[in-house]
Amino acid sequence: MTAHAHRFLRFFTSATDDASDVEQAGAVAPSAATHHPLSPMDRANERLMNEISDFLVSARLSVTTHNLMIAHSAFSGEDPQLARAIGRLRLAGEPITQEWLDAQTHGEDQEKAIQALIAQLSDSLDRFSATAHKARTSTANCNAELELHVDRATHTPDSLNLADVLAMAKTILDHSRKLEADIQASETETRNLRERLVRAQRDAEIDHLTGLPNRRAFEAVLDRNYREAQAEIDHLSVAFCDIDNFKQVNDNHGHETGDRVIQAVAQTLDKLSNQNCHVARHGGEEFVVLFRGLTKAQAREKLDAVRENFSERRFINRKTDDPIGRITFSGGVADVFAYENPRDALRAADEALYLAKEQGRNAVMAAP
Ligand code: GH3
Ligand code: MG
Ligand code: MG
Repeated sequence: MTAHAHRFLRFFTSATDDASDVEQAGAVAPSAATHHPLSPMDRANERLMNEISDFLVSARLSVTTHNLMIAHSAFSGEDPQLARAIGRLRLAGEPITQEWLDAQTHGEDQEKAIQALIAQLSDSLDRFSATAHKARTSTANCNAELELHVDRATHTPDSLNLADVLAMAKTILDHSRKLEADIQASETETRNLRERLVRAQRDAEIDHLTGLPNRRAFEAVLDRNYREAQAEIDHLSVAFCDIDNFKQVNDNHGHETGDRVIQAVAQTLDKLSNQNCHVARHGGEEFVVLFRGLTKAQAREKLDAVRENFSERRFINRKTDDPIGRITFSGGVADVFAYENPRDALRAADEALYLAKEQGRNAVMAAP
């Protein structure tokens, strides 16, 4: 995790040390805090510590370095998405489990796996380059040796000793065969590593439930489109979508049916996808859409048409044949360039989405 998180762990260690010092000294002397009033930074640290410990204790999560770091990233503001996801679960009164927390940080593990593959690939390329260098040097030496013999044989043919020449040819042949095998092994190793890296990179960008790009992939697409649209003075709008009352689907029909509903919404939204429109699963039952070349009003209209179409469908539980009924989603749209950066625009779209929720759901609202 980040240097920020490591700083936190250092802080955590010193904070607990300080606390025990204070406790021991408490009986004989007033606490250190009485002598030195808390600075705003101390107070912020204290608040952060309280939030982290409240979170871990109330969710009955073990106090491990892994959990502390995750909690720190959520409550320090380093990972606002995670903080929001935690807030929603708390609001919904749903338990925060270790599995849930691990699923939120799965991307980090994938990132580590990719970094490890890149390091292996880099080592493999270094070895390949060393083998190639060895091959070049050795070929040059052999050539020099051969030239010498050819030269001698040309000028003094009588001195030619066939046995010597044959021995030399055999040595050269053995040598080049060995180099050939080394180069081939290096090539195979590098190719395999490269293929694994490409697969891991693709995997890290795909949401496995829906097959849509995930949040990580979307953020890269958003950044790229932001730069391009800015340079070309093109419109860029972003939308946040969220399935309405989705918790009821899970509660009434089970998680598997809930998953299929998420897939159905994903498929519907994915029909918008083309080279100017990018759809991704942002997490849970939330989706994001990036509209290149469309104003906020045009993007809203387009998404609203999809919403309306979808809301006319009726679903049934495939397993039980029970009617699920109508599934709807709400959306919020923002003009990316109306904000300081793409993240702020995404936040504005999310706020517009919540306005749509407040106003009764099954609607797409534009940010002001
Ligand atoms: P609202 O209209 O306000 O959005 O209500 P909601 O019930 O959709 O919202 P809430 O955030 O309370 O519930 C979302 C639920 O989605 C909570 C979580 O358990 C569930 N969920 C998140 N990810 C998945 C998933 O991958 N599969 C399934 N089946 N459920 C999921
Ligand atoms: Mg939601
Ligand atoms: Mg929802």
